[in-house]
Amino acid sequence: MAFSSFKTDVWVDWCPGCGDFGILSALQMAMAEYKKPASDYAIFSGIGCSGKIIHYVNSTGIHNLHGRSIPMAIGAKLANPRLEVIVAGGDGDMLGIGVGHFVSAGRRNVDLSVLLFDNGVYGLTKGQAAPTLPRGIKTKSLSEPNIDTNLNPIALALTAGYTFVARAYAYDIKFLKDLIVRAMKHRGSALLDILQACPTYNDINTKEFYGPRLYKLEEPEWDGVVRKPEEWNEKYSKAIQKALEWGDKIPVGLFYQNELVPSYEDRISQRLTAYAERPPALQAISTSDGTIMTDLSELLKSKRVI
Ligand code: SF4
Repeated sequence: MAFSSFKTDVWVDWCPGCGDFGILSALQMAMAEYKKPASDYAIFSGIGCSGKIIHYVNSTGIHNLHGRSIPMAIGAKLANPRLEVIVAGGDGDMLGIGVGHFVSAGRRNVDLSVLLFDNGVYGLTKGQAAPTLPRGIKTKSLSEPNIDTNLNPIALALTAGYTFVARAYAYDIKFLKDLIVRAMKHRGSALLDILQACPTYNDINTKEFYGPRLYKLEEPEWDGVVRKPEEWNEKYSKAIQKALEWGDKIPVGLFYQNELVPSYEDRISQRLTAYAERPPALQAISTSDGTIMTDLSELLKSKRVI
């Protein structure tokens, strides 16, 4: 099947200069480079400016309720492990109302890629403080400085159990594209924290703010990939330390990757041979004349506890 990640007949509904444009470009380039047919991608987005991205990419997927894109994505991946599942949402959506699901995805190590649009504000609803905005910061959209302490997405993902944890910048499109491709190739839960400007409501985290501060984690100085069990503790501890770095210098790149942890699909396959052989979406449910072939009686019997 010919592959195209571009939709050319839609009006892109973001403000001029928004970091979302860079993320959209990088995602389209990553999907084209990965060369899967459009029907093999499933993108799940939440509510917010970022959630609109699914309408601008040629793939299947669902624009979800607020904070609920991750459980929907987990369901799709478990039903059809052949899908390349991507979750796209803002820090307000995924680290606010959706934070429980964000943590659960890491604990399970489900094979999906979470793209976190990190701009510190709820842009769609006029710029209220979102979970990554530091306490004491007053953007032009706030009447008073932010009263809440901010979450650190990198540290949260590491402690939740994500096995691929990285940070990128929306205006460095090639670097971002490379990390999206690596996240998609990773077997397990991947978080990509994408720093982006919201020029309409956040006049603090701007291009001028990030420009002189960002630096890349690169070999030989930095290597976050765990290749053997004895490296696990040291690389994890170093990644946690690095996650706390935020100020005059802000690191971007791959903090941590560990494919020695079994994915959720692997864990279920070990427990249920039938799942390993034929996951739900790949099972026939009716004959060609429409006769239903499913019989749940044995399954229901196996789940009876009294
Ligand atoms: Fe982008 Fe902010 Fe405009 Fe939303 S409000 S489209 S995040 S610039």
